[in-house]
Amino acid sequence: MRRESDYLLDIKTLPIGKHSFEYELDDSFFDKSEFSFKTLGCICAKLEANKQNAGAELNIRLIGKISVPCDRCLAEIPLSIDRELVMSLKSDKDGNLLNNDEYELDFDDGVLDLTPLFNEELLVSIPIRNVHDEGKCDDKMLAIFEKYSNKRKETKKEEIDPRWAALKNISDNLKE
Ligand SMILES: [Zn+2]
Repeated sequence: MRRESDYLLDIKTLPIGKHSFEYELDDSFFDKSEFSFKTLGCICAKLEANKQNAGAELNIRLIGKISVPCDRCLAEIPLSIDRELVMSLKSDKDGNLLNNDEYELDFDDGVLDLTPLFNEELLVSIPIRNVHDEGKCDDKMLAIFEKYSNKRKETKKEEIDPRWAALKNISDNLKE
């Protein structure tokens, strides 16, 4: 197993056959990706590449833990990531590298940049809605939200009242 220092896969120089790689998606990776979630330790990407003459098959597995804010109380919820995907790569006649869906990949001098792939896979592994189980939300936070939303209602009333008062003044003055 080779431990890679960047998120690149040199497909061109890879000998025919099976190869294993391991990538660590650390803080610097996530700083660049600008995700809204926090990581709990590193996310590990294990990659098995099976290189053939006409292309390669990649088996990628992302494992790790992240933390996302709860949609109800905003406290953090730990979330396990375990996502596996298989991707067949082939080169077209112009030397471009295509994936399963025939999309062209970010492929420079025979080197595949895995960053967009990792980013996409992480994004799709996060549920659209994240909430704590019933009764598990942060009570203090919920109380603050409750107070804040009541206060907003009050302020709104106060904002409108002076304007109505001013209009009433004008209308009263016109009558005189
Ligand atoms: Zn919650």
